[in-house]
Amino acid sequence: MATAAKKRPKKASKVIAIVRRDDCTGCEACIIFCPVDCIDLKLPEENPIEKYVLIDKQTCIGCLLCARYCPWDSIDMVQRAPFEETGDLVFA
Ligand code: SF4
Ligand code: SF4
Repeated sequence: MATAAKKRPKKASKVIAIVRRDDCTGCEACIIFCPVDCIDLKLPEENPIEKYVLIDKQTCIGCLLCARYCPWDSIDMVQRAPFEETGDLVFA
């Protein structure tokens, strides 16, 4: 959960984590490992069972921990620049 503000580097990372929504089961494992609390669980109103996570790209430090420990291999590490231009962090 993106609640408590944690210490972050001043320079933005070159890479960020991206969740492939179709592959994400919402198991929350990545939330536990993220050192900067930038992953939030989402429960779609129309069907809360189909939960998934969203990553705040501004806060992500590109540490790879979420991608490494996702049991469903649902997270990709990508270059930050193109996604700051398009603004979308979830492949729906
Ligand atoms: S660990 Fe993977 S499957 Fe689980 S919530 Fe995070 S992205 Fe989704
Ligand atoms: S790469 Fe690191 S900082 Fe970014 S969402 Fe994953 S665990 Fe959090």
